[in-house]
Amino acid sequence: MDAIVVGGGISGLVCANKLEAAGVNVSLFEAADAVGGRIRTDVVDGFRLDRGFQVFLTGYPEAKAMLDYDALDLKSFEPGALIQINGKTDRLVDPWRRPQHLLATAMSAAGTIGDKLRVAGVRRATSRGTIAELYENKERTTLEWLHDRGFSDSMIRSFFRPFFGGVFLDQKLETSSRLFEFLFRMFSSSEVTVPAKGMEEIPRQFARRLAEGTIRTDTRVQKLDGQTVTLESGEQHSADVVVMATESPFAKGQLAELAEVSSDYRSVKCLYFAASAPPFTEPILMLNGDGRGPINNLCVPTQVSGVYSTSGESLVSVTCLDSESTLDQVREHLTEWFGAGVADWRHLKTYDIPYALPVQSPPGLSPVEKSPRVRPGAYACGDYFDTASINGAMASGRRCAEAILADAKC
Ligand SMILES: Cc1cc2nc3c(=O)[nH]c(=O)nc-3n(C[C@H](O)[C@H](O)[C@H](O)COP(=O)(O)OP(=O)(O)OC[C@H]3O[C@@H](n4cnc5c(N)ncnc54)[C@H](O)[C@@H]3O)c2cc1C
Repeated sequence: MDAIVVGGGISGLVCANKLEAAGVNVSLFEAADAVGGRIRTDVVDGFRLDRGFQVFLTGYPEAKAMLDYDALDLKSFEPGALIQINGKTDRLVDPWRRPQHLLATAMSAAGTIGDKLRVAGVRRATSRGTIAELYENKERTTLEWLHDRGFSDSMIRSFFRPFFGGVFLDQKLETSSRLFEFLFRMFSSSEVTVPAKGMEEIPRQFARRLAEGTIRTDTRVQKLDGQTVTLESGEQHSADVVVMATESPFAKGQLAELAEVSSDYRSVKCLYFAASAPPFTEPILMLNGDGRGPINNLCVPTQVSGVYSTSGESLVSVTCLDSESTLDQVREHLTEWFGAGVADWRHLKTYDIPYALPVQSPPGLSPVEKSPRVRPGAYACGDYFDTASINGAMASGRRCAEAILADAKC
């Protein structure tokens, strides 16, 4: 059997890996100059810039089964976060993993003591049962879920909005509570990491496992007819099966059967700066607990992995959820947090990412129920089929390959 995979993001790479491992002859066409999709790392002035701040959670079940963690040389963040609130820096950490910070966490202005105890309850609730069972829980928005659990407005504003808003790229917390429960469980049971050489090492590991010649980069597919794809160059290729592993708008355009799939995505802006000294020395996330100003979260990747800079300077990564935020506004906000020295920080690059994450608001987040079978000979995968995450993209790619192999045996 031969297969064409359109798109070399994580889902397409995983699908191609599973198909090749089963003896299928795979051609993967990727429009960009390298595979990785939304997980790419650029080298700029000796700094490694992930295209948008993202992290890898070691507890992701799909990743545990498929990735070689040692080869990724994972570097961990401190659990929890520093929170900029009322002109001060507070600390909220996981007291199970960092008991020495229990008092600081309890006394933090982000939320009441009751809120901190409620977090312990959420940890217990989300760690019970299987992950599939989590997706059967009553679904509502994350904000409704937090209100139902009794969290105070101050805890939601100072911690949940910047932390999970930064994860979902959704400051209003309209994302499905099922995704919240899944990710809360992952954050409670995982190391939060980046590969030493940048996030792109993750897709690269999958790419390296493919046979030579499987991947063709700089090769945009223009259209799909039956099981024949036409490339931008005009070249045509046919196969027994075609897998659409692109973002949903292109997949929908080619496969009318996907008309019901949403093409709504959340956007994000990420700015990188070079600083002669780090604004703080811990490998930890900093959150905007005031809800004012353009910055949602910030970190110093060079405190997590020294390989992110070759010059000895620090790399600062700033995430803004409002894509209208300007460099001047960000500098002003940074100066409020870290003082006049920010004026010397060198702006390296800004990434505007319009298709960052598929919108996954209720109702209907139920990954296991979405079939990758579109019609005979045509399949689809991507994070929009599962959860908007690296784990979700992997799960979708795996399920797609399993469906193809199962159908081929019939
Ligand atoms: C800024 C940001 C932060 C994130 N943070 C996290 C995080 O912290 N943790 C986490 O788990 N997840 C995070 N994610 C989500 C995660 O990166 C994605 O869910 C995952 O990478 C999606 O993989 P995919 O294969 O579904 O899609 P994509 O990576 O989008 O892959 C689709 C591929 O198809 C290609 N393509 C499109 N059209 C064509 C065409 N016509 N012909 C050929 N090729 C085509 C594209 O170039 C792309 O390579 C983040 C994403 C972003 C952008």
